Amino acid sequence: MKVVVVGAGLGGLSATCHLVGRGHDVEVLERADVPGGRAGLWDTQGYRFDTGPSVLTMKGILADAFAAAGADMASHLTLKPVDPMYRACFADGSAIHVRHGREAMVQEIRETAGAAEAAGFVRFCDYLTDLYKLELPNFIDRNFDTILDIAKPPWPLFTLVRMGGLRKLSNVVADYFSDPRLQKLFSFQAMYAGLSPFEALAIYCVITYMDTVEGVFFPEGGMHAIPRAMAEVAEKAGASFRYNTTVDGVVRTTDGKISGVRLLGGEVVAADAVVLNPDLPVAYRELLPGVPMPRVARKGNYSPSCAVWLAGVKGKLPAGATHHNIHFGAEWEGAFDALLKRGVLMPDPSMLVTSPTASDPSLAPEGHVSLYVLEPTPNLDGHVDWTAERDRLRERLIARVAALGYPTVEVDVERFVDPTDWERQGMERGTPFALAHNFFQTGPFRPNNVTSKAPGVVFVGSGTVPGVGVPMVLLSGRLAADRVDELARG
Ligand SMILES: Cc1cc2nc3c(=O)[nH]c(=O)nc-3n(C[C@H](O)[C@H](O)[C@H](O)COP(=O)(O)OP(=O)(O)OC[C@H]3O[C@@H](n4cnc5c(N)ncnc54)[C@H](O)[C@@H]3O)c2cc1C
Repeated sequence: MKVVVVGAGLGGLSATCHLVGRGHDVEVLERADVPGGRAGLWDTQGYRFDTGPSVLTMKGILADAFAAAGADMASHLTLKPVDPMYRACFADGSAIHVRHGREAMVQEIRETAGAAEAAGFVRFCDYLTDLYKLELPNFIDRNFDTILDIAKPPWPLFTLVRMGGLRKLSNVVADYFSDPRLQKLFSFQAMYAGLSPFEALAIYCVITYMDTVEGVFFPEGGMHAIPRAMAEVAEKAGASFRYNTTVDGVVRTTDGKISGVRLLGGEVVAADAVVLNPDLPVAYRELLPGVPMPRVARKGNYSPSCAVWLAGVKGKLPAGATHHNIHFGAEWEGAFDALLKRGVLMPDPSMLVTSPTASDPSLAPEGHVSLYVLEPTPNLDGHVDWTAERDRLRERLIARVAALGYPTVEVDVERFVDPTDWERQGMERGTPFALAHNFFQTGPFRPNNVTSKAPGVVFVGSGTVPGVGVPMVLLSGRLAADRVDELARG
């Protein structure tokens, strides 16, 4: 089948690897001059900054995408464990290192929080592993045709309820840990799903499984090495790529079937199926005018967004700093309330300071480090006047980073991104994290990857199933390829 994939984000690339490996004739059309989408690169004055994802988990799912295109990931990409995976710094001045490997982490917890908490960690890991094994095949790595599919077969749903999957995530975590620092450390991942740990259901503990149990990795050359390598293997397997090529719309025949896509400038590229990787609501609005967008994409809750400060600075990291450093604010429940309920900036924000040069000094000139500082913010549905707040937030963020001991004075290059920038890059409501993963926006309730209103069109990426984050969009690529196979079978 001739398949056009619009967009070479990680979702589009994964779909391409799976489709080309299954014998389809695939052409990828990408508006940027490189692959990667949100997993972008800023290459300037001897610095190589990743502009999007920095925490890579679930390397097996990535390896599957390479294998689908007939390639061995290890021959194209060198992934190294990040250890410690995170240095978690708390407002009371204490720090806990999240170590790679269960034994090392048990030891760390024993030393920093005591033997009872360490025993809780062992039980928690077992719980997370059971949850993941249940959820992956039954609720995550599968397509849904109707809402009823969630209970087909019924036993996984019963088991999930029995395991406490529908309890609040924060309560489940508190069953295993009484130290509030560990409660934060093993529940903050709900934020990756756009949720507060106090609102999220325990089913989303699978995100904690992904980093805490499976581990965090870093590719040699930085995160952007991932899309580069995926594009390379897909091309080798027979897919063709056209960069600097913007798709202006999906072309449909009078009976509603698709016949290809139209590029800016008017050229039409014919296709039997079109896989759309732009943010799903944007794809509906701009590329499929007249095709009704699912209600949940129009009216649903979008994840919070973030502000990111990238800086190349002369100097050294403070003593003890590691690749990923989470600085928790003193406020916890109140911070989520501000962000998610009131739509305002967190009064005492937690933030992630990543310095990839801690793992790979070649990413900055000698004697210099690169900083990637991320603070969660409301998305554009919130109540922040970004014209007024942008500079204030930037200054506040840099002052906090400086107070924590990171070098911020001799800045060679810097870039600050707020939600209005994400919106300009094509992300709905100015968030790179798509629809939040509330129960009714997940699985069969999330915008489907096909629509009966436009047969031949398949969606891929974080706006559709299974959801947001690198592992999920890689899975969405395989699910999209399954949909194309269904079309091919008629
Ligand atoms: C700052 C930030 C931090 C993050 N941190 C993490 C993290 O640590 N770990 C993690 O797992 N995830 C993280 N994420 C989320 C993760 O990056 C995304 O979920 C994932 O990369 C989204 O991939 P995608 O394929 O859905 O979309 P995209 O990457 O947005 O791909 C869409 C592609 O379509 C192209 N396109 C759009 N419109 C057109 C058009 N009309 N014609 C042609 N091409 C078009 C775009 O240029 C783009 O290449 C982060 C994201 C950001 C931005």
